[in-house]
Amino acid sequence: MSTDTALRIDDELIIKSLATGNQRSEADLQEILIRARQLKGLEADDVAALCTISDPDLLKELFNVARDVKEEIYGRRLVFFTPLYVSNLCRNDCAYCAFRTSNKGIVRRALTMEELAAETASLVDEGHKRVLLVAGEAYPREGFDYILKAIDTVYSVKRGNGEIRRVNVNVAPLEEADFRRLKGHNIGTYQIFQETYHRQTYGQVHLRGRKTDFDWRLGAMDRAFAAGIDDVGIGVLFGLADWRYELLAMQQHIRHLENRFGVGPHTLSVPRLEPAEGADLASNPPNPVSDLAFRKIVAILRLMVPYTGIIMSTRETADIRRETFALGVSQISAGSRTNPGGYSAEDQNAAAQFSLGDVRSLDEVVADVARLGYTPSFCTGCYRLGRTGADFMDLAKPGDIKKHCDPNGLSSFLEYLLDYGQPKTQEIGMRRIADTLQTMDPEPRRRATAMLEKIRQGRRDVFC
Ligand code: SAM
Ligand code: SF4
Repeated sequence: MSTDTALRIDDELIIKSLATGNQRSEADLQEILIRARQLKGLEADDVAALCTISDPDLLKELFNVARDVKEEIYGRRLVFFTPLYVSNLCRNDCAYCAFRTSNKGIVRRALTMEELAAETASLVDEGHKRVLLVAGEAYPREGFDYILKAIDTVYSVKRGNGEIRRVNVNVAPLEEADFRRLKGHNIGTYQIFQETYHRQTYGQVHLRGRKTDFDWRLGAMDRAFAAGIDDVGIGVLFGLADWRYELLAMQQHIRHLENRFGVGPHTLSVPRLEPAEGADLASNPPNPVSDLAFRKIVAILRLMVPYTGIIMSTRETADIRRETFALGVSQISAGSRTNPGGYSAEDQNAAAQFSLGDVRSLDEVVADVARLGYTPSFCTGCYRLGRTGADFMDLAKPGDIKKHCDPNGLSSFLEYLLDYGQPKTQEIGMRRIADTLQTMDPEPRRRATAMLEKIRQGRRDVFC
């Protein structure tokens, strides 16, 4: 473990890498792709070089290698979750977000614990097992305790065979002591996005409140790790600064965490700016990212850090989502709402954070994903068995995670189909399970078959 402390994004290094990236020959690019296929990750100069690819054949090769790497490490599983917005109160003024404090025209609310329990019940009844609890940066009277109570409330809801088994959290950066309290409430991943690693752009779009402090946010994961949270997710809000700069800066963030804490982030998120009420910048991104560039971003990240999960939200359309599954995405949200009370409240006045590209129900997305040959997974096994942080990475790196994740994915998928699946989804899903079993190695197949049998006999929450 190094003694590095605060992370500084090294601008000069990024600019130098981007300049050399432009000078690489086709043979160099081919060579980088050959190395990337060996699952060893990429250096900064390699990332910069891959960003320059525009030749259709090379692009195809980049996407093919990303797909191979994804399948090698994650198989054809896609883990499902949904965001759970508990509050849209906020003191910050992010120029791209409908919850910004200067947006006076919206209805604001923080769910009461009764409302949150009703919201959770709706999600459980649809078949969700994982949620990402999200809030603006202002809490009701009880302060941060509100978030801790909210987490406990979500875990307390039981409905028939179902419950939420993993609560990930996306709330504003905390002091180390509050991170410690958060850890004590049994969270899965703590997630926060830097939005942009480009300090100047950051200053231009974060206009008021605590979030104006770039370094406070950049140091959030260090404080989280110091507090014992070893499962963190980072991200960039694409559209703010040059996406090539963001990839190289994100790589510096990852290396910093690896050097300092022995493990990097568990997940990367790649939100792209979507229109948001009262936030014109969201409809006019300063550095728009085309659909092609977006696919490149996902593919390059897959090669840069092969063992780190990539999350694709419902900000994107169904078509873009489908394309990126093949390029490296390992987790997706489905059936999402971004307004507090959006899943259950009769009164739907509270404002949403941004508009969604994919508004299909969970069941529709599950059926679609299974039809495309992926296994929807609702597994929460690793974190409940303590396989997080460095332990998870040790398991993931030699590809061993497949021995657990494939059977767990199938068992949680069968549970979903039997308890919540529509008849058509059940039919597609059962076929998918049978086909997947055929492709598995003998040991994981034996394990999966035994677990599936337990689910058929009525057992639930079976994982290894
Ligand atoms: N308020 C906390 C914060 O900002 O850190 C918690 C998370 S905020 C509710 C969730 C994320 O939504 C932000 O980090 C940002 O990346 C994303 N977001 C905000 N406005 C968006 C927009 N117009 N389009 C897409 N994503 C947006
Ligand atoms: Fe508040 Fe987060 Fe929206 Fe910024 S992105 S205005 S901090 S909710």
